Amino acid sequence: SHELRTPLAQIKGYVELFADKSLGDLSEEQSSAISVMQRATDRLASLIEDLIEFSTASREGITLHLEALPISKLIGEVIDRSREKAEKAGCELRMEINHDQLHVQVDRERLSWAMVQLVDNGIKFTPDGGTVSLESYLENSTVEIRVVDTGIGIPQDKVGEIFEPFHQLDDAPTRRYGGTGLGLALVKAILEAHGTEIQVASKEGEGSCFSFTLPVRERTA
Ligand code: ADP
Repeated sequence: SHELRTPLAQIKGYVELFADKSLGDLSEEQSSAISVMQRATDRLASLIEDLIEFSTASREGITLHLEALPISKLIGEVIDRSREKAEKAGCELRMEINHDQLHVQVDRERLSWAMVQLVDNGIKFTPDGGTVSLESYLENSTVEIRVVDTGIGIPQDKVGEIFEPFHQLDDAPTRRYGGTGLGLALVKAILEAHGTEIQVASKEGEGSCFSFTLPVRERTA
């Protein structure tokens, strides 16, 4: 992973120096070339992180570092990490929690990463003007966490395919949506490591709902 991350970090660093004009003034044409390079290096960085995550998980399995975490904190963190992307995509990001403060026993880093993947997919596959909401519902002693979007949806007969590694429903070279097809395979593995399962309800042209449940650890005021 070092061999992949280090050269990219250097490229990113220098591109940034060019972009903020630390290495001298830029013409308009040079500025726009640099911003194309910035976007491309960002995409490459996230692809490399997905590949590293995926190969580590396949090789060693997923080891969780569990802690008791308030659900509102988990959800707040995910919203914070996705806010900028939603704004850029013209997508409204909502949060809905129908219960008091509750704790779940989770690996904070991994679970929030998985939830960010779901929210990012929601944003990516929802046209401008749509909504992605992150919801938490309490039922008995279980919370159901849902990521609901008003996007393009998934054809019923394809729902089983989307969790396969490197699989994308639109894999044509002209496809509109970027990505590696690794996100959902990893989300599924992370949730399974937490002893739960990802569920999908979707309707083409109307939107999708990805959800999972977690046992509530304790109830506080
Ligand atoms: P990536 O997002 O990198 O393509 P994922 O594993 O996250 O990879 O998703 C696999 C595929 O599942 C996507 O390419 C897309 O076809 C479909 N998909 C995932 N999330 C959604 C969503 N919220 N709405 C519609 N399609 C989705």
